[in-house]
Amino acid sequence: MVATRRTAGFGAGLALAALASVPSAQQAAPPVVDDAALAAETPGNDWLAFGRTYSEQRFSPLTQIDTGTVGRLGVDWYVDLAGDRGLVSTPLVVDGVMYFVRSMNVVRAVDAATGALRWEYDPDVAGHADRRLRVGWDHSRGIAFWKGKVYVATWDGRLNAIDAGTGRELWSTRTIDPGAPFYITGAPKVFRGKVLIGNGGTENGAARGYVTAYDAETGEQAWRFHIVPGNPADGFENEAMAMAADTWTGEWWEFGGGGNAWHGFTYDSEFDAVYIGTGNGSPWNRKIRSPGGGDNLFLCSVVALDADTGEYRWHYQTTPGETWDYNSNMDIVLADLTIDERPVKALMHAPKNGFFYVIDRSDGRLISAEPFTEVTWASAVDTATGRPVEVPGARYETGAALISPGPIGGHSWHAMSYNPETGLAYIPTIHLSYQFTDEGVDIDGWRSPVGRSDTGVSTRRLGSSRQDDVIGSLQAWDPVRQEQVWEVPLEGMWNAGTLTTAGNLVFQGRADGNLVAYDAASGAELWRFHVGSGISAPPITYAVDGRQYVALLVGWGGAMAGVGGPSEAAHGWSYGVHPRRLIAFALDGGTELPASPPPRVPAPVEAPFFEVDAGLAQQGAREYGGVCSSCHGRDAMSSGMAPDLRASGAVLSAAAFARVLRDGRNAQGMPAYPELSDQQLTALRHYIREQAERDLAGR
Ligand code: CA
Repeated sequence: MVATRRTAGFGAGLALAALASVPSAQQAAPPVVDDAALAAETPGNDWLAFGRTYSEQRFSPLTQIDTGTVGRLGVDWYVDLAGDRGLVSTPLVVDGVMYFVRSMNVVRAVDAATGALRWEYDPDVAGHADRRLRVGWDHSRGIAFWKGKVYVATWDGRLNAIDAGTGRELWSTRTIDPGAPFYITGAPKVFRGKVLIGNGGTENGAARGYVTAYDAETGEQAWRFHIVPGNPADGFENEAMAMAADTWTGEWWEFGGGGNAWHGFTYDSEFDAVYIGTGNGSPWNRKIRSPGGGDNLFLCSVVALDADTGEYRWHYQTTPGETWDYNSNMDIVLADLTIDERPVKALMHAPKNGFFYVIDRSDGRLISAEPFTEVTWASAVDTATGRPVEVPGARYETGAALISPGPIGGHSWHAMSYNPETGLAYIPTIHLSYQFTDEGVDIDGWRSPVGRSDTGVSTRRLGSSRQDDVIGSLQAWDPVRQEQVWEVPLEGMWNAGTLTTAGNLVFQGRADGNLVAYDAASGAELWRFHVGSGISAPPITYAVDGRQYVALLVGWGGAMAGVGGPSEAAHGWSYGVHPRRLIAFALDGGTELPASPPPRVPAPVEAPFFEVDAGLAQQGAREYGGVCSSCHGRDAMSSGMAPDLRASGAVLSAAAFARVLRDGRNAQGMPAYPELSDQQLTALRHYIREQAERDLAGR
């Protein structure tokens, strides 16, 4: 069934909820979720994969909810997820059952029409993570489904298969070296009987990224592809690595090189290829990792691999010789486009560097690239050579450089969707300008960090890259004409991914807590609902028994809920205060959500007896940047992922502070730092109190 339509109003959300305990009539054998099912665009009832189908378009053919009916959308059911933190993932729906992942990679299956619990699976991340709690977050962006199994990758680097009927673990395999500074927040992807997973972590030590495919039945490794070359003295794994090594200089392997693929993988059933969106350099600063220059393949690229063997086919590098954290880990969306009256099997990609790329999937050739946000590091992409035209000075080679986009990018992992009926891509866009400088960095003596983060360059956020000071927007982008069609300016830059439907709708959850539906063609706002907390996860849509639902997880999270600083703290989604939920909407849904506490920006505690020493505070600022800021926020101002330390009583007590830092709190995701000296702890406290006093003085 392509689409379902209801004519009668169904003002019976509560009556439906009351039916929750009645067993589903669907006792028949579950459908086989295989390559054919995952490639099929027209069935709309299920949401079988991260991007719904292999194309990753996040386009649903369902039309019961459309521009005419969307005003009747209401909460049909919800599930409270008390104790969870950042919830950023895409749920899956298979034959009336919804599967989703909670904090600490706990997977839950619920009835997709009622929310009633089927099972829950806990991979015990706190028990496995250990020092790895220092890198990344306890977030997962999604799971995969294949022939009766659910796959989840864990923060600590395992890939686990679960029986979709019972929630029982079937196999578990370790995908990363226990000593590597890696983590996983990405969704595994399944195709041709294999499960693919990568990892993140280029900022936390000497990192050499790779992706690995495992047999979906057994968990046996099928193939692995390294993204950057290792030490030539050890021999190269394949010809692609030998080719890549020619684009590096110095002793890059000492720094790992980077390239970690933590998000964008797209399988293409038409070419039997998998496209890997690759990461930035480790460290960011090319002067350190490749001092003689060079493109540094395959950093910041889309790399096409043979899906069966993992062999290299082609690549397109978006940012040769990257030095700004401009990774190309963002989603890779497949579509049939008509360009210059010629049909093109296209790949669309809007990575951090600010250009929207359209690439021919048959050979990796660049068709077009235009900026979708403010871009100052390059003036254009030359379509003849496929290379960016860099602006002199952008590499901070002659001193501090003011650059847009910043290291957060013009677009992050928040999903871009594509609607083949409007021909538009819907991009959560970021508009920020940064200063980059490596003045004071010991370029020749720099060593990869251990147990903390260091990128070999310092960056400072300057503010919006636009005249009107907007830092985030939703925009509809025409990939054929390479131009913006409509735009909605938003509060904050950290707004969630999009969903688009054949009902001519675009849905986006926002940092300000609103889930909003727009006319996909015009951008006119048609409906909104405030969920009581910041939204970081993309919505999905599906149908059960002829009723269409829109569902999403609610739980402010992701990197900018950690390090975001004042602009993201301003939303007021304080740690531990606002609800975490899964909410499903349907036409005439009549369920009331419990009231949420109002937004609350934490106020620093007053401590006049604590006399800040400026020298200690200065030293503490450096410690804070390497150890605390990624979760507790820049300038010691929490954006909600972790407690605001300026408001913490523990900071006022040397003993209490030492206990938390040295022992950690694994279950809450707080890592232990037993190696920190008393002096370092004291410096940290003075820095945090200096920031608290600064805020208090300004009130
Ligand atoms: Ca990065």
